[in-house]
Amino acid sequence: MKFLAQDKLQAFLGHLAGESRVVAPVKGDDGVVLFRPWSPGTEVELDVLLPKQSAKEFVLRQSETYLRYGYAMEGEAAAQVDDSHEAKVVLDDPAERKAAQDTAVTAHAALVVEPVNDAPAQVIFGLRPCDARGFVQMDNVFGGYGGFYFDPYYNAKREATTLVAVTCRDPRSTCFCTSVQGGPASTEGADVLFTQVEGGFAVEALTDKGETLLASAEFVDAAQAQVLYAETVKETAEARVDAAFDLEGIQEHLRANIEDPGWHDLAMRCISCGTCTYVCPNCYCFNITDEMVEGRGERIRTWDNCFNPSYTLETSGHNPRDTKSNRFRNRFSHKFWYYPEKYDSLLCSGCGRCITHCPTRIDIREVLSVMGSERTAVPATTGEEA
Ligand code: SF4
Ligand code: SF4
Repeated sequence: MKFLAQDKLQAFLGHLAGESRVVAPVKGDDGVVLFRPWSPGTEVELDVLLPKQSAKEFVLRQSETYLRYGYAMEGEAAAQVDDSHEAKVVLDDPAERKAAQDTAVTAHAALVVEPVNDAPAQVIFGLRPCDARGFVQMDNVFGGYGGFYFDPYYNAKREATTLVAVTCRDPRSTCFCTSVQGGPASTEGADVLFTQVEGGFAVEALTDKGETLLASAEFVDAAQAQVLYAETVKETAEARVDAAFDLEGIQEHLRANIEDPGWHDLAMRCISCGTCTYVCPNCYCFNITDEMVEGRGERIRTWDNCFNPSYTLETSGHNPRDTKSNRFRNRFSHKFWYYPEKYDSLLCSGCGRCITHCPTRIDIREVLSVMGSERTAVPATTGEEA
């Protein structure tokens, strides 16, 4: 284990910033702490446990252009397709691709497509273990787990990212990481773990990327007393996180309760704002739109949320989740039933942001305590829903 003195933190981050982008929790002029690009001299805010947003924005962008395309005329298209390494025809189907290349030579216009996949090296410093676990949960979805889809855009950024987590010394009343297989000093997903001790940080490298970071001259070997202090901080923090609900049998109970009218009653307070999904470190749904002006266009993906009534609206006009309670049920069932079936882990790291920021105080712990357990009495439903 290494030790970094508190007064060496700026020098360490400055050293990192010379080689890559550094992102850290920083208080803005509005007083809100968010993960923001860090520059030398900027104070890192570690007293606020969780920035309002998780750091997922720096890997799964809130909105990003991933293709540019256009229709080029004969000759122009042929030159672009044949000679340029920047602009390529990248239609998925090889036969279509060949046809498009032929068309570039023989017809009036061809589709020219340019993938956009910028992935600068970056270090995200100061995220908490629940946010680092959130990346692992998204990695399953975008990283080809179980032979499913591998997303080159997400993975290029993820590969270029080093995660430096900081142990939570003072968990909030809304934290429940220990109920979802995590903890205030969980190492899952992190490359380095910092633990605040007397005068600085006890620091552990967890991966090869982490080892590289710790080669910096600012680190010294930790003293035995610092190692023991760090262990005490971790154990004390873990003991302070309240148990939220029982995971035992939760998938089976959610499945059995799918038609339970309790969903309707719990959903009545929800205003479908989607805040819970946007602040979540592992909600990963996105929408795709095309914007095109005079023959040139961009394909953009943007965060979406499953509370949106049009989220599952089909072209035919049919909507398989046409009521609020169906959409509400989906969010919790996805995280604790369908996702675990597919990826063999949960889709929640217990950060509690959805509890803190829900404008109507809907609490995932309460929802799962009720609907993720055996229902003995079926309550009467109350009120209408949209
Ligand atoms: S934040 Fe609350 S009100 Fe908004 S969609 Fe989520 S559960 Fe509903
Ligand atoms: S569902 Fe809520 S508590 Fe769980 S990771 Fe997402 S925001 Fe955090």
